[in-house]
Amino acid sequence: STFQDLGLNDDLLQGITDLGFEKPSEVQEKAIPLLLNSEEDLVALAQTGTGKTAAFGFPMLQKINIDSRTTQGLILSPTRELCLQIASEMKLYGKHCKGLNVVAVYGGSSITEQAREIKRGAQVIVATPGRMKDMISRRLVDITKIEYAVLDEADEMLNMGFKEDITAILSHTPNEKNTWLFSATMPKEVAAIAKNFMHNPQEITV
Ligand code: AMP
Repeated sequence: STFQDLGLNDDLLQGITDLGFEKPSEVQEKAIPLLLNSEEDLVALAQTGTGKTAAFGFPMLQKINIDSRTTQGLILSPTRELCLQIASEMKLYGKHCKGLNVVAVYGGSSITEQAREIKRGAQVIVATPGRMKDMISRRLVDITKIEYAVLDEADEMLNMGFKEDITAILSHTPNEKNTWLFSATMPKEVAAIAKNFMHNPQEITV
């Protein structure tokens, strides 16, 4: 299939052409139509390098309202490097989505500057759990209108001890949101997160 077959809009297809992506990867083929056409939770077993960032990134960019400056999408990722990488991919994917603001939030960098960027209006925030929790408790970010939450590399986040932070962050988001969990492995700790925080998730494996 082609990206067009998957139901992506012209702004995103233009970005895909610019990036030189010729056809969807397996995880993209499975996840994109499912996420575009339903309001359901998703558990995806997928390794890094499979194109999983675009598998959740394209649907998120298509579903959020870019005319609004409210934060609607939250992506949690285990490390500063991954956080920056996802944010920069999302900006490339949404290059033709006029008015899109994607902000990366991670430790070891100025919290004031990150808060300032968010205040300008970020529809999508890509964050490490520790810094995100810190920003919530200092009321520097409002995630009460989140519609889509991604837990990327969920197994890694739990290995790194972020379970409490993730739980605290999710407790500040609306119950009606959709949660999309991506993980390379499915240890019982990850299954527990899926069970406790998600509603009848669809499952895909690549
Ligand atoms: P990820 O698994 O999301 O880290 O993606 C791995 C790399 O593959 C990234 O550099 C992406 O930009 C690239 N990529 C993602 N999807 C595609 C695709 N459909 N065709 C070619 N490259 C892709």
